[in-house]
Amino acid sequence: MSKVMIIGAGGVGQVVTHKCAQLPEVFTDIVLASRTEAKCRAIAGQLERPIRTARVDADNVAELAALLRREQPELVINVALPYQDLAIMDACLEAGVHYMDTANYEPPDTARFEYRWQWAYRERFERAGLTALLGSGFDPGATNIFTAYLARNHFDEIHELDIVDVNGGDHGYPFATNFNPEINIREVSAQCRHWENGEFVTTAPMSKQARFTCPEEVGTFNIYRMYHEELESLSRHFPSLRRAQFWMSFSDNYLKHLEVLENVGMTGIEPVEFQGQQIVPIQFLARLLPDPSSLGPRTVGKTCIGCIVRGLKDGNERVMYIYNICDHQACYREVQSQAISYTTGVPAMIGAKMILEGRWRRPGVWNVEQFDPQPFMDDMNRYGLPWQVVELPSDFQLEVITGQNL
Ligand code: NDP
Repeated sequence: MSKVMIIGAGGVGQVVTHKCAQLPEVFTDIVLASRTEAKCRAIAGQLERPIRTARVDADNVAELAALLRREQPELVINVALPYQDLAIMDACLEAGVHYMDTANYEPPDTARFEYRWQWAYRERFERAGLTALLGSGFDPGATNIFTAYLARNHFDEIHELDIVDVNGGDHGYPFATNFNPEINIREVSAQCRHWENGEFVTTAPMSKQARFTCPEEVGTFNIYRMYHEELESLSRHFPSLRRAQFWMSFSDNYLKHLEVLENVGMTGIEPVEFQGQQIVPIQFLARLLPDPSSLGPRTVGKTCIGCIVRGLKDGNERVMYIYNICDHQACYREVQSQAISYTTGVPAMIGAKMILEGRWRRPGVWNVEQFDPQPFMDDMNRYGLPWQVVELPSDFQLEVITGQNL
């Protein structure tokens, strides 16, 4: 018997719940809990098998720990927001439940996400004999595992990593985000940091741009270098990396809207007094934007997310590219969600499966690349995220358009 509690009934929560429900032999019992129980019930209503739902404020450790003691799941899958990570880890420790998530902790009042707060729980999880698995979405998640897989199977030593996240999808809105708008905009407007010769180097947001042609005719896209949390864990766990960068595609239209919103102060995270009320501009903006979980029916096109790794094999320099392509409409037909939620929710289900099956169960706090990548990679092929590996010419370079010297 493996009972899980999924916390968070947003875009990602919907996919994780569908995918877990598809595997009754692993996830024998499912409870979906979130702040708004009606959203849990709506997701439950889409499934062919019964699951239970609950209301919980995951910021409240005592309330969540009480729910966990009552339900006694083996594992919590945290797909609420990064702000809840530490409270949910505390509640798991109190109730003796394994933990996993898809995004690292971010304090609500500082737009800075780092692993140090969660890594600091290592000894407590070790002492409790519990596993905490961090960052089992796509990026972070599959991208970390792709890197570990290439390092293990195609290289003796890896030196450079470029993670390229292309969303070639179109939802038809002038401006919308594919996952939680507040988290997305905080991430995209942050200072860029990349790993270079043993330290993080900071540059202005969106100051380095390249063009990237995806395989399998997905298209050619403008990609921008930005900070992403897996750079922190990958640079630590693969110390031979001399450079690690993360790139994401943005349309000119998205960037134009974002620039205007930033210029007028709508992306601010400091409260502003308005008509006697304290309003956080970015939260108000998120309220106005389309709910990401509503984008599914109208998003067409594909995502292409992967890792380009340069390193040495048998004394020779080589470059390998590993990627997954995912079709928004195919995801919608399967789980009524677009591909961004799908590509996050499937690795979350697989990470949970790895823990429940005992393959990735070890007391402590771990990033996904610290475990054997093979069973996870096999399950990606099996459960909807097939991947390809190709060798690129050893002189391959991204076509940098602006910011050559950064
Ligand atoms: P949504 O905003 O769609 O969903 C978040 C859900 O969490 C909502 O149902 C919300 O409740 C619930 N929630 C928020 N606060 C609480 C709380 N205090 N207690 C209980 N429930 C709460 O976000 P997404 O589904 O798009 O994203 C979910 C997570 O996945 C985020 O952490 C995001 O950063 C991460 N992510 C990771 C990716 C990866 O590849 N690694 C990619 C995309 C997302 P309510 O409905 O009441 O608002």
